[in-house]
Amino acid sequence: MLSKFRPTWMIESIYNVSPQFLLENNINCVLTDLDNTLVPWNSKKGSEELRSWLHEVKKYGIKVIVVSNNSHKRIQKAVQDYELPFVPRAMKPLTIGIRHALKSFNLNKKNTVMIGDQLLTDVVAANSCHVRSILVKPLVDNDAWNTTLNRCLEKIIWNKLIKKYPNLHWE
Ligand SMILES: [Mg+2]
Repeated sequence: MLSKFRPTWMIESIYNVSPQFLLENNINCVLTDLDNTLVPWNSKKGSEELRSWLHEVKKYGIKVIVVSNNSHKRIQKAVQDYELPFVPRAMKPLTIGIRHALKSFNLNKKNTVMIGDQLLTDVVAANSCHVRSILVKPLVDNDAWNTTLNRCLEKIIWNKLIKKYPNLHWE
């Protein structure tokens, strides 16, 4: 049961996920959460840092697709300057959004990774789809009200997780 919450890797920020790391692990497509992973949850736009990270990974032919539980409108506003394809209302921790992305972009799950800031949604959805995952720290340390509840549960799971998998660590 606990293994459902176990991320493959833990990296401080999506901006620290280098194209070299992805290619070494045979990853040519990144599915990414939006809020607090790619942009702060309360922000309409991304940053210069996001722009240069996207530029860098795309240069190596790595696809980036946003898979978010948020609405079409919210995601479009946030990513419109970056020409990113996206799947809205992904319903993570259910597998609907990730499966939709795999199918409609014709992706091989062995070459795909899901990046997100929540164990309870992003990591569980990825594990349920047998897609590898990278847990990142949230970009800002407050959350939307519905996420705050998840964070309380997450703390409990987190404590159990590090007991069971003492090798888990932030890179
Ligand atoms: Mg998030």
